[in-house]
Amino acid sequence: MNIPSNKHYWTEKEEKNVLDALARGQLSGDGYYTERVSALIEENFGAGKALMTTSGTHALEMAAMLIGLEPGDEVIMPSFTFSSTANAVLLNEGKPVFVEIKPEDLNVDPNDIERKITEKTKAIIPVHYAGVGCDMDRIMAIALKHNLRVIEDAAQGVNAKYRGRYLGTIADFGCYSFHGTKNYSCGEGGALLVNQEDTQIIKKAEVIRQKGTDRWLFLRGDVNKYNWIDTGSSYSPSDLLMAVLLAQLENMQEITEKRKAVYKVYRHAFEPYERQGILKIMQIPRECEPNYHIFWVIFNTQEMRDFVLKELNRQGVAASFHYLPLHSSPMGKKMGYKPCDLPVTEKAAKCLLRLPLYPGMTEAELHYAIQSLAAVIGAL
Ligand SMILES: *Cc1c(COP(=O)(O)O)cnc(C)c1O
Repeated sequence: MNIPSNKHYWTEKEEKNVLDALARGQLSGDGYYTERVSALIEENFGAGKALMTTSGTHALEMAAMLIGLEPGDEVIMPSFTFSSTANAVLLNEGKPVFVEIKPEDLNVDPNDIERKITEKTKAIIPVHYAGVGCDMDRIMAIALKHNLRVIEDAAQGVNAKYRGRYLGTIADFGCYSFHGTKNYSCGEGGALLVNQEDTQIIKKAEVIRQKGTDRWLFLRGDVNKYNWIDTGSSYSPSDLLMAVLLAQLENMQEITEKRKAVYKVYRHAFEPYERQGILKIMQIPRECEPNYHIFWVIFNTQEMRDFVLKELNRQGVAASFHYLPLHSSPMGKKMGYKPCDLPVTEKAAKCLLRLPLYPGMTEAELHYAIQSLAAVIGAL
């Protein structure tokens, strides 16, 4: 049996919407479906303003542009994340400052954020790893105390909550991803959430998104032609993709429930191994309601993890690992970091195992994955 790490989950709605979008004939950005998706995100999640983007990466880039970094300004973020979080800052002449994560949920450690604040610190980018919220109360309090902007990298955190509030809506900006590997997906896509009343910021975001023009005023019918007014790029997605995404978001609860069912089976299956002291299972803080994006465990040693990973893969179960931490990557080394700078992050990267998790996973597939795991761990 072959079990992929991830698999899309379509209903009939995606196909129906795509055909409808084709029939409408307007496939460029900001059409019928784009408007419906952003309205759904604003209403459902309580976001200030949701601007749909071509990717989560682009949402992060827009947020980094909007906080007005000066060359050399420092932005604190975990090293345990995807390169996009750091690139957004580098592309805007800022300097990423990597901090440590907490071993129990692999989310950024607020104590290390405080330790690494300097006079040049401008912002914090917490990453909600695996769809589990960071300690936002502490992070927002630190930001308030030091007058810092906060951008939530909620690429994995769509439809998950922290103290009853949706991830991505808590800080100044939130960034979502709808990439093929994420819970709710249209292949490539994202959203920038602007959670501020400041109409100037929203206007600036619209201009950046529309190639530096006031095209959004034109689309609203306020002006009869649009002008180039500032620096910008092209971040609005095709309406065809938004047609797919609307169907996904309308099926959000069903997708989440199905993921949760798989997650619970894994948790139950791994508990005996945790009691034996071989590994630790991911923890979900009481104040967090996750979206079951990832199920992960951390083995005691890299040898164990590598053995289990290799054997599961050999049996067709696409277990995987990540991230290669940014601070110990070739780019991180160029920036002057050494692997030993962030030991918790290093350990996580070396000992973490992710299990296949997708909504359409059949009982037979799940059973096979767990049986394979039992056999492999038995051979440790
Ligand atoms: C997926 C992801 C991104 C990038 O999103 P894309 O839509 O693939 O550009 C950024 N940050 C994190 C933490 C992610 O998981």
